[in-house]
Amino acid sequence: MNFHIMTLFPEMVLDGLRTSIIGRAEEKGLISLEAVNIRDYTTDKHKKVDDYTYGGGAGMLMQAQPVYDCWKTICENINKKKDSETKPRVVYVTPQGEVFHQKKAVELSKEKDLIFLCGHYEGIDERVLEEIVTDYISIGDYVLTGGELAAMVMIDAIARLVPGVLNNDESAQTESHANGLLEYPQYSRPEIWHDKKVPEVLLSGHHAKIEAWRMEQSLERTRLRRPELYEAYLLANPSKPEKNKKRKEGL
Ligand code: SAM
Repeated sequence: MNFHIMTLFPEMVLDGLRTSIIGRAEEKGLISLEAVNIRDYTTDKHKKVDDYTYGGGAGMLMQAQPVYDCWKTICENINKKKDSETKPRVVYVTPQGEVFHQKKAVELSKEKDLIFLCGHYEGIDERVLEEIVTDYISIGDYVLTGGELAAMVMIDAIARLVPGVLNNDESAQTESHANGLLEYPQYSRPEIWHDKKVPEVLLSGHHAKIEAWRMEQSLERTRLRRPELYEAYLLANPSKPEKNKKRKEGL
């Protein structure tokens, strides 16, 4: 899978992503990371990429021309490698988008090429967004100074779903949000730490009992920490958590 990031700060994105698991995935050729500097595409002789907003107001706005030309070059380069011409999805990371979640990460991990557009200052001229953006996605209801951290968060979550990126692909399937629940608590050696003992069932070697215990813990943790996810899970799986349902109702 190929990630193309349009940004004013390419080093920030690449330095952050080229470490640990995602960095190794790129070295192995499972993914590729390309950060393209939007500033390289400005036709302004002073290399300016921003200007005042029409109508007044605080701050500067990224202009349409460099963003558009940068996007066009990325698309041309992608299409050079293919027989047919395709328009890859372009994600504008913005606090005005739908909030990113695991299902969206799974959906986007199926793409061959994905372009991320990072805004800065007050954002980007609306006209170029209308022409090139296919998805508006936020990482949460707060405002960052730029889109780089948001793009890195999304790319990390998507890239680890690409087959082979995680040493054990199964771990992505049992983790929080994979099935709508939070993951159960986990323990490693030693068996006793600070007078706290690892739950007996995990030492039993009885796989069915371990599975059942983990499911129960997952349900209970989700009910306590994310009640809205728990309710949604109950609606989608009405027969499953009888025990937890009763506990919630105080029976
Ligand atoms: N004026 C914009 C608004 O009120 O919606 C905010 C602009 S913000 C200061 C600059 C850039 O940071 C945005 O263009 C966007 O790319 C990025 N950004 C800020 N908050 C974000 C969030 N919660 N999720 C994703 N990107 C964000």
